[in-house]
Amino acid sequence: MTDNSRRGFFRELASVVASAREAATEPEPEAPPPDLTDAEIERYSRQLVLPEWGAAAQLAVNEASVLVIGAGALGAPVALYLAGAGVGRIGILDDDAVELSNLHRQLLHFTPDVGVAKAESAAAKLRYLNPDIVVEPYQVHADAENAAALVEGQDLVVDCSDSFATRYAVNAACCAARVPLVEAGVLGMSGLVMSIKPGRTACYRCAFPVEPLDAPRCADAGVLGPAAGVIGSLQALEALKLLTGVAPPIADGFLQVDLATAEFLRVHASRRADCPDCGDV
Ligand SMILES: [Zn+2]
Repeated sequence: MTDNSRRGFFRELASVVASAREAATEPEPEAPPPDLTDAEIERYSRQLVLPEWGAAAQLAVNEASVLVIGAGALGAPVALYLAGAGVGRIGILDDDAVELSNLHRQLLHFTPDVGVAKAESAAAKLRYLNPDIVVEPYQVHADAENAAALVEGQDLVVDCSDSFATRYAVNAACCAARVPLVEAGVLGMSGLVMSIKPGRTACYRCAFPVEPLDAPRCADAGVLGPAAGVIGSLQALEALKLLTGVAPPIADGFLQVDLATAEFLRVHASRRADCPDCGDV
């Protein structure tokens, strides 16, 4: 692209942004939507030109606050893609330190980070990737005691934890606070992804009422790095769909992914009236 056509391209984008802003619902007088700077228009140009995305979606993600629970195999691609896309505030939560055995799949951490708190290691990389956003590291473990406080005020939660106890605690807290949630899990060469709009679509406990007793752990069963990358990328995509509405999320069920056979299967799940997290009880 020549300098002239490049300038023209960005001028056109700026005009699209201005038109979309004018066409948007009238904001509160004291809180007009923030402008996209020239640097932001260039940084996000390849998503801004997408017909499904555009300025309205960009402004939505710029103003969004997302909590990513876990800075490991799933949290790494999720946080990287959300930071790259311009999510305005990203909380990254993990109470572990980086270990050598993490590095084959946890792309936010490098060999010199071994021993460093994962939340801090992740936050440092995300700030390098996108200095225009706010990144807040939390060195805590999400559980039933603190989940409600953690999800409060978030526009979206992405659960990248690797424990059923955390998943159920986060699901219950998101349902109670009506905060949209993306759940996922990965093991070996397979995984699943599920989006949840509390009160409107099946929640994690609707789909999985009880914790499996004999579920293998990552440390025992193993996981391939690219498999975690695929599932985490799907999770990030779901997050962007929920934040912007640019495409329908994987809701009222989950996507089961078998990467050994390259098969993707949509599994339906319905809301349960007797669900202790989102039901009428
Ligand atoms: Zn439910």
